[in-house]
Amino acid sequence: MEKRRIFVTTALPYANGSFHIGHIMEYIQADIWVRFQRMQGHEVHFVCADDAHGAPIMLKAEAEGVTPEQLVTRIGAERPKYLHGFHIAFDNWHSTDSPENIELSQDIYRKLKAASLVYTKPVEQFYDPVKGMFLADRYIKGECPKCGAKDQYGDACEVCGSVYTPTDLKNPYSTLSGATPVLKSSEHYFFRLSDLKCVEFLKEWINEPGRLQSQVANKAKEWLEGDGGKTLGDWDISRDEPYFGIPIPDAPGKFFYVWLDAPVGYLASLKNYFGSGKARAKGETRSFEEFLSAPDTEQIHFIGKDIIYFHTLFWPAMLKYAGKPYRVPDHVYVHGFINISGEKMSKSRGTGISPLRYLDIGMNPEWLRYYIAAKLNANVEDIDFNPDDFLARVNSDLIGKYVNIASRCAGFISKRFDGKFAAQLPKIDPTPYVNQVAQEEHNKDVVTSRLKGETPPIGRGYTHPRGYDTKDIFGWFRGLGFSVAEAYAGREFGRALRLIMELADIANRYIDDKKPWELAKNSSEEEELQVVCTVGLNLFRLLTLYLKPILPELASKAEVFLNINPLRWEDVDAPLAPGHTIRPYQHLMTRVDPKQLDALFEIEKESAKVTASTPHPASPPKQEEAKPAAPTTISIDDFAKIDLRIAKIVNAEHVEGADKLLKLTLDLGGETRTVFAGIKSAYDPATLIGRLTVVVANLAPRKMKFGMSEGMVLAASGDAPGLYLLSPDSGAQPGMKVK
Ligand SMILES: [Zn+2]
Repeated sequence: MEKRRIFVTTALPYANGSFHIGHIMEYIQADIWVRFQRMQGHEVHFVCADDAHGAPIMLKAEAEGVTPEQLVTRIGAERPKYLHGFHIAFDNWHSTDSPENIELSQDIYRKLKAASLVYTKPVEQFYDPVKGMFLADRYIKGECPKCGAKDQYGDACEVCGSVYTPTDLKNPYSTLSGATPVLKSSEHYFFRLSDLKCVEFLKEWINEPGRLQSQVANKAKEWLEGDGGKTLGDWDISRDEPYFGIPIPDAPGKFFYVWLDAPVGYLASLKNYFGSGKARAKGETRSFEEFLSAPDTEQIHFIGKDIIYFHTLFWPAMLKYAGKPYRVPDHVYVHGFINISGEKMSKSRGTGISPLRYLDIGMNPEWLRYYIAAKLNANVEDIDFNPDDFLARVNSDLIGKYVNIASRCAGFISKRFDGKFAAQLPKIDPTPYVNQVAQEEHNKDVVTSRLKGETPPIGRGYTHPRGYDTKDIFGWFRGLGFSVAEAYAGREFGRALRLIMELADIANRYIDDKKPWELAKNSSEEEELQVVCTVGLNLFRLLTLYLKPILPELASKAEVFLNINPLRWEDVDAPLAPGHTIRPYQHLMTRVDPKQLDALFEIEKESAKVTASTPHPASPPKQEEAKPAAPTTISIDDFAKIDLRIAKIVNAEHVEGADKLLKLTLDLGGETRTVFAGIKSAYDPATLIGRLTVVVANLAPRKMKFGMSEGMVLAASGDAPGLYLLSPDSGAQPGMKVK
């Protein structure tokens, strides 16, 4: 087998906030793929880093009264509890605010400059005279030049949808200081992406078969060739001080735009990993430069669909023309977003799952790994987290089908046979247990040729033992295992799990047919009981092997009770020796309690904190900077955006299965709303009916597990327990505005 040497990264999270579920999904996807490759015997170096630079971090730190470094360090310090919590095993986690990144970013810049791909030109831009800084579009507001709507951002109007530049705004103001911005010119540095040699190289790079998913390649081609190539502009890579970033060599007061040094952070983390001796500890004896420039090294990036532009145009072109030791990415694997019950995850609305809350309330991280894997394929598709689906897949499939095999067989082997397997493994005809899906899979060329001992094409460096007996249940398990491996290699994790569950069905049908619990009643059938349970546990072992990239912790527990070495893919072909002894069975995994899902989704208060992070700045290059942190004071205009109304509680009831919520029906002066409120601990619903309270009437509706919540009632609380619903003085009527 040809051993692959792979350098894998995930997108760098922006270090101004905690991880959200979208980060965790991406890390789980990459982690599963990395674990699979390692089980295949390949060498994988899996690294990431915090993306620490840029104006949003600088401004957030300022608002909090700390230095940007302190902010980034604080955010960085909370990363491990998430990563360990979800069994995401990066080899190294670093920061773009690091000596390695300064060195590499400046080195790449110098080489690009030497290749005549950097030039300067003056750019006229809005400048905040009070703050003393140039303003990105997101920090400028004013009146829409078209419809006159107030408080519109500098790039587009949210009311009429027109797109414009900040200088088109009427009565513009800086959102940072309120000052009227002035136009000021400054010299900017540009990367000549439109240079013919860049364009020619990118065409070739993008079109190489198998390099990018077809949807991604098409998108990149559109940018590259759209409108006769005229849409591809050069890239403004500089920012003026004050800026939290890396200084541009020989250019006082100029810094690299955060998007230049962020992807270099992949390499900085790898360099740090090599420099710290961690790579050596994993058996990689070459230097960072030797490893990176070796022809057989593969560089692979997992990213979300919002940052395709940077990773398929700027990044490969930068690396190409920086030259050795840099290499262009071999693959960029793009995934979609995760939605919650069909609703787009939105930071501002607080819809979403808090990963930390998931762990804090004691939910098993492998449930989420399993569920996300079941939803993922190799396309750029959004996936949906649906609580009922989650419950069903984990409880019925993972536990009901897979874990159940071990719990049904292990007890008999331990109690009746001193932990010993049967001395012989009989040949078991799988025909009665095989269903249609498994049969179809089996009929595929790839499996049948493998069963005949031939080598089907599966891609580079893939190994699966050859030659199976189709008249043997184990032959089936090993043969279909080939398709499982192929699915993992191609990031078709949902397909891998469907196949594994088909195999689990076969194993369960066999056990149901043999009924060990009946055999156990009759001493003359002792021998048969031992054989059936030995077969069952051997099949369980193969299922464990196939699930191991997704469920590392569960697999490790299973390895302990099966009394075997850590499973590798090549173990597919070696059944446990007759007479093998297992250790006593330990409970492997509990079921999801629906109450845990209730707790996960009752996050009105917590979500406000957790989801306050802004995303990695910029999807399209234009909207380059996210909104700054909320200032400590707000204007009366800001306050006026909140539509507070008097509401009459016309009905209040308990919610089946919810610990904290009450379902309120509110009358807002003729309009009826349903609101789920986390006030169950403080109020008996019967006492609420007829009361007046205050509701936020223009809060975006939020889909919760129990239905849509169309507003929020206001209640006071302090550090001590206790919740106090607000009430107006007598005389107030439903629908009245509170101001
Ligand atoms: Zn407008």
